[in-house]
Amino acid sequence: MAIEDEPQSLGVDLGAPPAIPDSARRRVVDLLESGLLHRYAEARSVGEDVACLEEEFAASLGRKYAVGLNSCGSSMFLSLLTTGVTQGSRVLMNSFTLAPVPGAVAHAGGEHVLVEITDDLVIDLDDLDRKARDSGARHLLLSHMRGHIADMDAVVEICRRHDITLIEDCAHTQGARWAGQPTGTFGATGCFSFQSYKHVNAGEGGMLVTDDDDIAARAILYSGSYMLYGQHRARPPEAAFERWKLATPNFSLRMSNIVAALARAQLPLVDERARKWNDSHDRIARGLDSLPGVRLPNRPQAESYVQSSIQFALAALDDRAFAAFLAGCKARGVFIKWFGAREPAGFTSQSRSWGYIADPHTPPETARILDRLCDLRIPLSLEADDCARLVSIVRSELARAGSAAKP
Ligand SMILES: *Cc1c(COP(=O)(O)O)cnc(C)c1O
Repeated sequence: MAIEDEPQSLGVDLGAPPAIPDSARRRVVDLLESGLLHRYAEARSVGEDVACLEEEFAASLGRKYAVGLNSCGSSMFLSLLTTGVTQGSRVLMNSFTLAPVPGAVAHAGGEHVLVEITDDLVIDLDDLDRKARDSGARHLLLSHMRGHIADMDAVVEICRRHDITLIEDCAHTQGARWAGQPTGTFGATGCFSFQSYKHVNAGEGGMLVTDDDDIAARAILYSGSYMLYGQHRARPPEAAFERWKLATPNFSLRMSNIVAALARAQLPLVDERARKWNDSHDRIARGLDSLPGVRLPNRPQAESYVQSSIQFALAALDDRAFAAFLAGCKARGVFIKWFGAREPAGFTSQSRSWGYIADPHTPPETARILDRLCDLRIPLSLEADDCARLVSIVRSELARAGSAAKP
């Protein structure tokens, strides 16, 4: 094998977050100069970056209300609280997800009911149906993890049949749709993240969207509106606030004007970013799909994804070969994340490591799938030739690891 012909290293930072546009920088400097960083003001309406972002965000999804928060984790937490989760309530969730999701359930006092995933990395609908029936859960916190969208018609139908409130975690699906309908509009609420490694980079930040007057009013009050909720543009009628304002504690989960300015300047860029991400994703996917032993998830026709990362499975490698493959890729600048590690590492963890939940375990099918699942970030800076080089590095490291494993 002509290893000499292979490129030595990728030479691209796969961890680079989306760049901040100039318009955002200018607005942030204006805010810094004025000092008006808090979203509310007692005497006059100032800044309004958060209020404007909420209005634009809700409109972009066709939802009535959006509430700016300090993180997507806070959005999921408030979604659970405002839809009736109390101490000990069971909450269904797909067991392939990121730590803030089980964290939000714990924060709300809920008890986690872990649902299997399929080889296509979406929630297993049969297991969901069974656990929806048997667990007594009234909530499903569905993570569109790594941008993989389950059959939402089926999910909605199962929730309806078992009287379950659906909450969508859209941290990886901003700009994505199922059968033409944006994610975040199927459930009672949709939760979005503006953390640096999502589709809009404001460092931190979250959004809760809903069409429900009471959920919106309560989320605004919980977020810490100091009774200045009248400064929200995308807000429910006064009557909804009257119902809740004296009964709702202030949890101080607000978004600042700086975060909103950063996010607001990037909202119009999401479609263009999506095209770039998907172009790189599809190139890499085609390249990997042609390699023996590599399996890519099937993507249904109805799914319009936005893939800022790519996942693939290497079921055929044994433990040693798999470890050698990961190390070989890493040494050549292709940092592959792995959800199968014993201990949580960086942005990866398995539910068996969530020692704070009632019954920490990884459901067996999910464990089998995660054990050989590779996960790669796709930075916007990746060009077509970088994608080709990346595939070629994976191909040669796969061949090397595979042949080293043979006796
Ligand atoms: C990042 C992420 C979140 C939470 O986002 P934060 O804004 O960091 O709280 C939720 N779900 C998934 C799947 C994520 O990757």
